[in-house]
Amino acid sequence: MLPGAARAQAGLTGQPVSVCVAPVQPGERFADLIAGRIDLDCEQRQTRYGSGDFWAASGALSLDLSHRQMLLRTASLWQQRVTIGIVHADGRIDWLRADARDLTRRIQLGAIVEFALPSASAPVTRIVWRIDGAANRRGILNGVHVASERESDRSNLYMGMIYAAFAGLSIALLIFNFALWRALKHPFQLAYCLMLGLLLAYALSSSGLLAWAVPSIDNNNRLRINYMMLAASAGAALLFARTYFEARVFEGGLGRIVDAVITAMFAVGIGVALFAGRWMIELDLLFSITCGSLIAVIPAIVWRAFARRSRFIWMFALAWTTPVVVAALRIAQAINLVPWSFWLDNSTLIAMAVEALLSSLAIAYRIRLLSAERDRAVEQAAVDRLLAATDPLTSLLNRRAFLGQAIGRPGRQQLILLDIDHFKLVNETLGHDGGDEVLRVVARVLRQTAPAGALVARLGGEEFALVADAAAPVDPGVLLGRLRATRMPFDYAVTASIGACFGPLGSEPDWKRLYQIADRALFDAKASGRDRARIIEGLAAVA
Ligand code: GH3
Ligand code: MG
Ligand code: MG
Repeated sequence: MLPGAARAQAGLTGQPVSVCVAPVQPGERFADLIAGRIDLDCEQRQTRYGSGDFWAASGALSLDLSHRQMLLRTASLWQQRVTIGIVHADGRIDWLRADARDLTRRIQLGAIVEFALPSASAPVTRIVWRIDGAANRRGILNGVHVASERESDRSNLYMGMIYAAFAGLSIALLIFNFALWRALKHPFQLAYCLMLGLLLAYALSSSGLLAWAVPSIDNNNRLRINYMMLAASAGAALLFARTYFEARVFEGGLGRIVDAVITAMFAVGIGVALFAGRWMIELDLLFSITCGSLIAVIPAIVWRAFARRSRFIWMFALAWTTPVVVAALRIAQAINLVPWSFWLDNSTLIAMAVEALLSSLAIAYRIRLLSAERDRAVEQAAVDRLLAATDPLTSLLNRRAFLGQAIGRPGRQQLILLDIDHFKLVNETLGHDGGDEVLRVVARVLRQTAPAGALVARLGGEEFALVADAAAPVDPGVLLGRLRATRMPFDYAVTASIGACFGPLGSEPDWKRLYQIADRALFDAKASGRDRARIIEGLAAVA
């Protein structure tokens, strides 16, 4: 909240003037009011009288207007016509009149209606009003002050600063988040931009800036627009919450309830804009009820987010605390639990600014989590691909991955097929687990012998394959030697046979041909006693 001194600088600048009111009875005239023939109510809440036409009068005053210009300032309210009588000590009365359209031209920043008091030699002793067509939802006459021109100018400057700060903040956040949405396309970013745009429109219409920009607008129409923008920005804020959380938070009935409140919020806004003149009281009540359900639904969302372990709950609760408290106070004001106050009337803006700023942090937080999630998914996909490509027992390439990578290798290639000798016997002697371990050891020897860039695979069972560039081939003799020298489980002597050949591997038929030759070489090696290699240098040798 702003400090006390600042408060005096803003809308409430000048000397406060207390007023008493009474509903206009048929046949009553200003003369009756001035003569004191009308009973005025100074104690009770003005709103208890409902809509209609009213008399109002200040208490006794002593305002010297002989040297300086003084201004009569009141909060802008829904009214059809205002007639003001300035009563002087010498009995002279100056009259000021304004209809809703004239009121617009008198609006100052902070939605204050200002009348210049005509200069006079005798001091002002009293001010009397007749207000026709008062909706009286926020009172008949609120925040009446008499201020100097300097005080009024400073108030405008001060309010201008507040609104400029808010507008600057909103425009910057709007542009930035819209640009971010173009890149990331999360729906909650768009809902946030909508909320900011509507808040800006709300600020423009509530501040009186709209009255300055479009002086021809009827002040009641300005209030309509103001209402509509407030309702719509509240609806957009809820839409933001709806899209911000994980979908699981809104599962079941809650999502439908929230959707209904969002729709109602926008509908009430449009309703006020179209029908405020005729059904002001009904719409105002509807507006308060809808705001009430919005405020009721926020804790429900927070609770559900907590129950469903949403990761965004604290950011959300932080961003929404201020506006929810302020909105609750405003509703309390609307149903007359809390008296009208200028600051409460303007607090929405400050609360919304706080929410806009904190929501932006909430968005950054959510994007951070989303990108972390995506990084994890990318990593997991890489792990999955690797798992799909490897043989689980030996961690070598499996047949499919091997073929995928081997076929298409450029230039002459060496293909080695290696098959463990009498592996059935190995299994029978060492058991299946022992056999598995032998497979792992053989795989390790193959991997260690293969040059960089070579492919090593387990084609199936106890048959392995190795593909290397013909320019840097593996010597099958060296491979067999290493195998013999490697210590096997239970020191079991394990040998293998190798068939090797060279040729192109550019296509599938190339592979088939090369495999056939290597397989024949392997068969030869087996047939001639095992534990040996057969190498076929070129394709011509097979023909
Ligand atoms: P040869 O010297 O002619 O190659 O005889 P071999 O016994 O090695 O050949 P054969 O193809 O008849 O037998 C291969 C055996 O490998 C049969 C099967 O039980 C065993 N085997 C296949 N896959 C695995 C495996 O993953 N683990 C184990 N322990 N044994 C396997
Ligand atoms: Mg074998
Ligand atoms: Mg075999």
